[in-house]
Amino acid sequence: MAVVEVKGLTKRFDGGEVNAVDRLDLATEEGEYLVLLGPSGCGKTTLLRLIAGLEQPTAGEVLIGGEQVAGLPPRARKIAMVFQSYALYPHKTARRNIEFPLKAQGVKAAERAAKVTWAAELLGIAHLLDRRPRQLSGGERQRVALARALVREPSVFLLDEPLSNLDAKLRAAARDDLKQFQQRVGTTTIYVTHDQVEAMGMGDRIAVMSKGALRQVGTPQDVYDDPADTFVATFLGSPPMNIMERDHVLVGFRPESLLPKGVVEPDDGAITVPFTVERIEYLGAERHLIGTVQGIGGAAKARALLPSTVSVEVPAGETHDFVVREADLRFFDKQSTLKADRRRL
Ligand code: ADP
Ligand code: MG
Repeated sequence: MAVVEVKGLTKRFDGGEVNAVDRLDLATEEGEYLVLLGPSGCGKTTLLRLIAGLEQPTAGEVLIGGEQVAGLPPRARKIAMVFQSYALYPHKTARRNIEFPLKAQGVKAAERAAKVTWAAELLGIAHLLDRRPRQLSGGERQRVALARALVREPSVFLLDEPLSNLDAKLRAAARDDLKQFQQRVGTTTIYVTHDQVEAMGMGDRIAVMSKGALRQVGTPQDVYDDPADTFVATFLGSPPMNIMERDHVLVGFRPESLLPKGVVEPDDGAITVPFTVERIEYLGAERHLIGTVQGIGGAAKARALLPSTVSVEVPAGETHDFVVREADLRFFDKQSTLKADRRRL
């Protein structure tokens, strides 16, 4: 049984021309880490708030543990949400913040203390319990917010961009911590982010959203290798998939699939595409070549990504023979932008 399931879920805000969440169907699997990925404004927070009961749907339903929850207040839903801002009480210590939901439920002092200790130890913040939020780093505050969610022993965690206030280095460390923590407690988690690297690295599955609608749900490999439409194809991957038109279909290939001839094993499925390099970005571990390719559509803008292990000289301003393997091409319908059946040029 799915821990959380939504069916035809729709939310239209007063005066809104578009639906913030639009006829969305999604079900989590027991214990999984599901990442909800999409650009800012696509409806991620609204979806979490609908699941948590902080927002009422315009249409559709939310089921938790197989039960309809329409009309149930947030507290009765066995759900814990961690907000982007953490929403800690500034004048309360970490300990008081963490035990707050238990106190509100009327849990006795001894049991509260035991649960706070348990959650704090699990998150490695036992030594910080007497500090107030302003005496804690961003990463520590995030753990306090998680501990506060954890003490309620929810059946699901809803995490809304919890790492977005951390700097890049802390983010990477916090990402590991969060993932390890989730594996230890085994609680089904829906994690919201607009960051595709975070989504690819953390998700058991990724649900890609755009304009209130779900575009694709799958493992990181599924959504990257076999995108359901051009939105998913270009939202995941940096730089994004190259897409060009040929014979009224859209043809796509990843920047790492565009390689200098001679670098790849000669292969009868390889298509030669002359590539005029206009600009090069050196990023240490890789080089991005930005230019124009011929041979698939007409002349089309494209990017190639060469790992630093490929040392072939490809100066800007020149045209070189590059290749793309036929197996690395993806096809999309020009009108609908959906994946097309076609598999060959
Ligand atoms: P995300 O979390 O993906 O950035 P949101 O769920 O916050 O997106 O917002 C989705 C859309 O709904 C946006 O267009 C936003 O402006 C609109 N929206 C969100 N909350 C409200 C609200 N309370 N009233 C009116 N419009 C809202
Ligand atoms: Mg949001």
